Amino acid sequence: MNKNPYAWIEASLETIHRANWYRSVQTVDSLPGATVLLSGQKVINFASNDYLGLAADERLQSAAIQAIQAFGTGSTGSRLLSGHRQLHRELEQAIASTKQTEDAVVFSSGYLANLGAITALVGKRDLIFSDQYNHSSLKNGAILSAATVMEYPHCDISALTAKLNQERQKYRRCLILTDSVFSMDGDLCPLPELLNLAAEFSCMLLIDEAHATGVMGKMGGGCVEHFGCTGSDLIQIGTLSKALGSLGGYVAGSHHLIDFLRNRAPSWIYTTALSPADTAAALAAMKIVQQEPERRQQLWANVDYLKQLVTENLPNLKILPTESPILCFQLPDAATALTVGQKLKEAGIFAPAIRPPTVPTSRIRITLMAIHEPAHIDKLVQTLCDIFYV
Ligand SMILES: *Cc1c(COP(=O)(O)O)cnc(C)c1O
Repeated sequence: MNKNPYAWIEASLETIHRANWYRSVQTVDSLPGATVLLSGQKVINFASNDYLGLAADERLQSAAIQAIQAFGTGSTGSRLLSGHRQLHRELEQAIASTKQTEDAVVFSSGYLANLGAITALVGKRDLIFSDQYNHSSLKNGAILSAATVMEYPHCDISALTAKLNQERQKYRRCLILTDSVFSMDGDLCPLPELLNLAAEFSCMLLIDEAHATGVMGKMGGGCVEHFGCTGSDLIQIGTLSKALGSLGGYVAGSHHLIDFLRNRAPSWIYTTALSPADTAAALAAMKIVQQEPERRQQLWANVDYLKQLVTENLPNLKILPTESPILCFQLPDAATALTVGQKLKEAGIFAPAIRPPTVPTSRIRITLMAIHEPAHIDKLVQTLCDIFYV
């Protein structure tokens, strides 16, 4: 047995390359914004989750700087030991106010919020139903919880109902997991129907509002607000790192839920508290989300403008169903998606190719921001025309 035990890694990388699945990082050398410097090249940015354009906002920057000056760069411990600051509490109250829930708790990332909540809520004797297209953090949270996990076909309420009829009574607790805006597609979960099912079968419902908070709903409360379901009994999770332009995650819900998570969510208890700078920036962003609805209006105006231009100029492109600022153009395979992504970049457009294993079918994914100007969107559509109609 003198075989190198690590040799399989190189072989595995070669397989990834051969399938055109290989991925690597690209450097952005500027502030985030509608245009960025990508490895030295100025490009129009359709690859950002900074939907409201807050990640470079001066108010967030100065809140972060002040927090560093007052509280330092690190929070020095977990929340239950030495890491808790009043800023955390203020942020949690601002989140609960936007979500109109009794309370909220912030985690160090959205990923950790999902891992922590799911593992705290269910265990071996329990059942999880998870949408097939859910985010990695929901899927891995489900695995980590040790509950029985069953995936249901994407947004398929009748399939989920059939499985609930078959399986629900064999288990103690049941938890349904879903993205609200599906991150790699842009469509929405059927929330009212899911809430009805959860009530009928005595299931908990956890909804991940990562791409919806600050974006969906008149006040930016997410898909829960968008669907008129504010005040419903459910577990709302999200991130501070997308429309809120900072870093961190949260869970919002009832007093009892949040109090329980503070006692039982391992990824909250055993990790260092969110840094003062991230916390202060997110708090400044929550205030802007509440006080400047015109940012959301501008974002949706941009979405409408792009959809209109695409319908008029690119009738043959297959756009995946979307009700969010995420628009995906489906392409036949990973190699084509890579080529199109590369051509876009050469023309000064940053819009990534998303490929398996992240998604089942390859695509170019566009995200719009409130700070895009009509000329940016015109250039995107013109470039796509040049690529697809030569
Ligand atoms: C981005 C994302 C997360 C993770 O949030 P982070 O704060 O970046 O860890 C979780 N769920 C969904 C649906 C996401 O899109």
